[in-house]
Amino acid sequence: MNLISVKDYVKLRKEEIKKEIISLLRKPKLVIIQMNDDVASNSYVKGKLKDAEELGIDASLIKLDESLNEEQLLKIIDEVNNHETVDGLIVQLPLPKHISESKIKESINPKKDVDGFHPLSKFKACTPKGIISYLTYLGFNFVGKNVVIIGRSNIVGRPLAKLLLDLSMNVTVLHSKTSIEDRNFYLKHADLVVLAVGKPYLLTKDVPLKKDAILVDVGISRLDGHLVGDIEPREDVLLQTPVPGGVGLLTRLSLMENVLEAYEDGISC
Ligand code: NAP
Repeated sequence: MNLISVKDYVKLRKEEIKKEIISLLRKPKLVIIQMNDDVASNSYVKGKLKDAEELGIDASLIKLDESLNEEQLLKIIDEVNNHETVDGLIVQLPLPKHISESKIKESINPKKDVDGFHPLSKFKACTPKGIISYLTYLGFNFVGKNVVIIGRSNIVGRPLAKLLLDLSMNVTVLHSKTSIEDRNFYLKHADLVVLAVGKPYLLTKDVPLKKDAILVDVGISRLDGHLVGDIEPREDVLLQTPVPGGVGLLTRLSLMENVLEAYEDGISC
């Protein structure tokens, strides 16, 4: 296997994407709608705008007042949905309490839903997509291997489980109702371990794992003023993705790849 770090992999892919975008007839266009002033959201949006600029994607932010009602938000989404030169549209979460998240997700044109949240979206959800692309680049052989995914959310655990099953892995999905004994039993046999929970160092370094296991840490939490993942750093495995500088970068990369794909699909149909 080619054990390149996430940072180096992302840098390499960004160079490839930049070259591809330079050769296009026009810049792919992404619109981000944000209806909150959440500190974390502001920083995610800033990161997305920065990535887009670096790659030559024309990204713009529509920042809305939180007092708007659902109908007004749906009207704005509808306008962007129907705007010919907009390739991708994302609505940054969280939304204010008076807005239905599922209704908003389902209102996005599936052809432009580059977050992959719409049930009919033609794009893969960004975090699972990024993890699989990275593992593929490393030369990880998915077929017949054991993966344990801890966390079953609709944006990470569940879509990742489906994609890995499609790649013929033996998939075990665990959650908050799994006992520690059962969790440790499954982990002992895992070739790939993915944690997407959001609890600092939930998986401590004393838990026995295979020495050639790969650990993918999706979780992001704050502990004593630092960003940390769900997995305590350890050196007795083949590879562990860091936090920060790991899955977050892969998720951001996938979003840009999806925008480019949306542009290419729009041109070809
Ligand atoms: P979520 O919707 O809150 O889901 C958390 C999952 O963890 C649930 O399935 C829950 O089980 C499970 N869980 C909670 N406590 C547990 C425990 N003690 N043992 C085992 N499982 C437990 O979270 P999410 O949206 O998937 O996000 C998870 C984490 O990843 C967060 O820290 C988030 O910030 C981060 N994240 C990072 C990226 C990135 O790009 N790096 C992307 C997305 C999310 P139940 O279903 O039984 O409640």
